[in-house]
Amino acid sequence: MPETEKVIELAKRRGIFWPSYEIYGGVAGLYDIGPVGARIKNKIVQLWRKIFVEENSDFVVEIETPMITPSKVLEASGHVENFTDPIVECQKCHKIYRADHLIEETLRLSVEGLKPSELTNIILQKGLKCPSCGGELGEVRNFNLLFSTTIGPYAGYVGYLRPETAQGMFTAFRRVFESTRERLPLGIAQVGRVGRNEISPRQGLVRMREFTIMEVEFFIDPEDKDVPQLERYWEEGFHVLFKDAKEKGGDPVRVKVKDLVSEKLVVNPWMAFWMATASRFVKSLGISEGSFYFEEKLPHERAHYSSQTFDQIVKVMGEKVEISGHAYRGDYDLSRHSRFSGEDLSVFKKFDKARVIKKRSVILNRDRLRQEDKDFQRELMKLISDKKPEEVEIMIKAGGELMGRKLSDFLSVIEREEKEHGIRFIPHVVEPSFGVERCLYLSVLNAYREKKDRVVLSLPKEIVPYHVAVFPLLEKDELKERSRKIAGELKQKFEVLYDESGSIGKRYARVDEIGVPYAITVDPQTLNDGTVTIRDRDSWEQIRVNEGEVLQVLEKLFSGADFNMILGEAKR
Ligand code: AMP
Repeated sequence: MPETEKVIELAKRRGIFWPSYEIYGGVAGLYDIGPVGARIKNKIVQLWRKIFVEENSDFVVEIETPMITPSKVLEASGHVENFTDPIVECQKCHKIYRADHLIEETLRLSVEGLKPSELTNIILQKGLKCPSCGGELGEVRNFNLLFSTTIGPYAGYVGYLRPETAQGMFTAFRRVFESTRERLPLGIAQVGRVGRNEISPRQGLVRMREFTIMEVEFFIDPEDKDVPQLERYWEEGFHVLFKDAKEKGGDPVRVKVKDLVSEKLVVNPWMAFWMATASRFVKSLGISEGSFYFEEKLPHERAHYSSQTFDQIVKVMGEKVEISGHAYRGDYDLSRHSRFSGEDLSVFKKFDKARVIKKRSVILNRDRLRQEDKDFQRELMKLISDKKPEEVEIMIKAGGELMGRKLSDFLSVIEREEKEHGIRFIPHVVEPSFGVERCLYLSVLNAYREKKDRVVLSLPKEIVPYHVAVFPLLEKDELKERSRKIAGELKQKFEVLYDESGSIGKRYARVDEIGVPYAITVDPQTLNDGTVTIRDRDSWEQIRVNEGEVLQVLEKLFSGADFNMILGEAKR
């Protein structure tokens, strides 16, 4: 059985995730997250909040906006027109495939971002047939991935499930900006469900039709390249496959954050900041630096709004999966929403010191103009109404005339000095975006180990479903009572799984399989000398400690102490 299949089996068996509506045969791309999965998922979201929001709380805030989105918003964002994937239908069995993936998988060609007509040509040239029945494939066409609905009882009021949380942050930008003291940079974060009508969802949590996104829309002044917050990451590094190397079939190279910025490998220093933050987050999911890299998208692979994009790719169990996307969205979103809503979404930047600027203006010689007839007066006003002073000046200097009269008799252009206290501009946006279920899936794949025919999920402590299990060794009332007492006390500080039934071997196996790092067992010796055992998930080693010290030992273990060190101390 392939390794990923084993993990999917484990996920079903141990309550991590399984296909939704299973009793009705299931629906591809829809998954339930089980009791253990929900705990791990919540931890992942908490960890993301800590690293992306809390550690940057002086400039990042979190909001929540609806899933149901009126059509107008997604017309403005470009999704109604552009949020499509190419599909191709078999003319014989009528099975529908995602055209670019079919070509990539069967012909091993990279065709991301090619137009439907180009994909049709490749299919024809290479004689690609339906993998299911061998029939002819038709023309490739675009399929829109938005799930549509109507809002209220009005058939004409079209809405969609949001395909990303981002649009909620753009439409709420002005409110958030005004309620957070009108300062840039400003990060608006959101964790929420999204719907994408994917063409061919895969097994596992990689391509789902409904999932949870964690994203930050980070609003900046594009002129302000001073990012003191980058200092904390300056010397850190990660692997990046740059677009030039990618085109030549090259490999990712390790770069330091300071080089990304000083060599202008990123269009804005904040791109490097969020990539470094993402790198830290992925490492805290247990995925080592050697198992992920950032891949720069080629221009034709980028979304319509982006001028630079990096996908963060995780390599695990032979799979390569995008865990996050990092896009420089420029002023695309706020400009489009300004245009479509008619609301001004620009912000005012006050200069430290007022700037003196030279301004040209057109002066009318009114006394002279009064001597002319009404027709001429009207035509002259029409002529200058839509022209800049500089254009009028050129006409005058060129000896321009109107209705046989010289413009210079009626118009002149003068230059004046004016004080400017600031300017209005549309903020630019940097967006780091993670799918939560992909994080969950990749963390589980990455943590999966087999040890002596048994499975151990070596999750990092930050994302384990429970901190500790408490077991009575035997089903005896005194042992159960003592165990419940210990479990009750530990619950004040830790997340505890209490289990009193079945053989101890099975109970250890179960907690190993869901990644609980420690198990405390109360045995007959406890009744004699008040000691219990603490068992380590990864090494299966055990130590005996006094019941009263358990909390303290666990605190040490969760603040970084190594089990072997504690084991050594206990033996001494
Ligand atoms: P995107 O907006 O397409 O860059 O997606 C942002 C992030 O959402 C990706 O990096 C993935 O982690 C996740 N994601 C995208 N599509 C799916 C999907 N169909 N199922 C699960 N996660 C997804």
